[in-house]
Amino acid sequence: MARTMTSDRQAADLRQRALRVMPGGVTAGGRFNPVIGRPYYFDHGDGARLWDVDGNEYLDYSSSNGASMLGHNHPRIAEAVREGLARGTMCTQETRSHVELCERICEVIPSAEKVRLSNTGTEATMAALRIARAATGRERVLKFDGHFHGMHDYVLFNCHTPETAMADQEIASYPDSAGIPERQGDLLVNVPFNDPGALVAALDRHADELACVILEPISYNLGCVPADRDFLVRLREETRRRGIVLIFDEVLSGFRMGLGGAQEHLGVEPDLSTWAKALGAGWPIAAITGTAEVMDVLGPVGSVVVSGTYTGQLCSAMAALAALDVMSEPGFYERLNATAQRLYSGLDALMAQHGVVGRVQGIGARFGLYFGVTEPVRDYRQATAFDPEVNNRFLKGCVERGLHFHDFGTKMAPMHYGTTAAHTDEDVDLTLDRLQAVFAGLRA
Ligand code: PLP
Repeated sequence: MARTMTSDRQAADLRQRALRVMPGGVTAGGRFNPVIGRPYYFDHGDGARLWDVDGNEYLDYSSSNGASMLGHNHPRIAEAVREGLARGTMCTQETRSHVELCERICEVIPSAEKVRLSNTGTEATMAALRIARAATGRERVLKFDGHFHGMHDYVLFNCHTPETAMADQEIASYPDSAGIPERQGDLLVNVPFNDPGALVAALDRHADELACVILEPISYNLGCVPADRDFLVRLREETRRRGIVLIFDEVLSGFRMGLGGAQEHLGVEPDLSTWAKALGAGWPIAAITGTAEVMDVLGPVGSVVVSGTYTGQLCSAMAALAALDVMSEPGFYERLNATAQRLYSGLDALMAQHGVVGRVQGIGARFGLYFGVTEPVRDYRQATAFDPEVNNRFLKGCVERGLHFHDFGTKMAPMHYGTTAAHTDEDVDLTLDRLQAVFAGLRA
């Protein structure tokens, strides 16, 4: 059932105005969508759908880069935020709600004994590194090729390692932005993901300098690439033995397939973890969790400073409490995961039916699509071997049929997409129906 964008008159007008007052006409670089040659201008979202300023309707498979996992305009989140507003839109104050929120987080996250709140995933990973450095008295950080941990200078390296620099062992540091001091790269040790040999060699070489190892235990920034369980168990043992803090960045994997995140799903507990996105159901809130021993380096007990005006802003804290309530309801994850699985099976069937080579890898409500790839994707090198031309045709076909799959246009890394609690089986079936024509066009 084809469906085309009926008009883009208002969007074209907004684009002209935006170009005059914003660099590149966007408030955030990632919002420029190369597939349509401009950002989308949405008017509102409801449930699994978005409407743009010209009245075009889209089924949303980007869900605010994973933040809107409950869907847009969830009534329980809206009610909680209204309660926060009525209580005075406070920030910089502790309330009963903050104590309750941190208690709830400690109940559901396997490795969480203590919590510090923050506003974004970027701030949370920045704080986690500071905590690890203070706890160990060391400075260097081991990270994995292609893993993304936010926009700060300590970690914005090697998300898009150039092909010529990929290696089987340690990889040189490549900043992902201009303006980052080159010397920051000296504080990093980069290794390929899921490669125990490269990991242990790097740990042996740098053990005395390493404060921490940080990773996405399920790297949705590579589409959807989980750590092999053996690799993760080995990483846990090796870091513990050497007194290196192990940090799971669960900003994207958190609450995605179950309340306890990837650490519960994979059965390995880190020393520190970072959370955001689904935690606030679209409201800006993040958390750093960890063992009491490591977290107690934070002030006012210890001497590590992590604080901020908007930390734990009341409406966001109320939204997170409500989100945890919704996600804790019996059957919530069974339904979420079943809907996602229906889509993954449908995509597999479409590939087979239309003779399109590719892989769908999904865990819980988020997935990656790797056109042109047949083997299971386990690392950055494999994840970036997808066919950008077919990928682009897929994304174009989706736009024309009212399916929103956002693309940052980096060309180097695949995007991650997701379903939400608002997607119904009927939405998935409608999507698969619309995708028939898209996949038919990919065969060529
Ligand atoms: N860590 C991971 C794994 C992420 O996926 C992201 C964002 O996509 C971040 C950190 C940064 O989070 P934020 O965009 O809230 O700063």
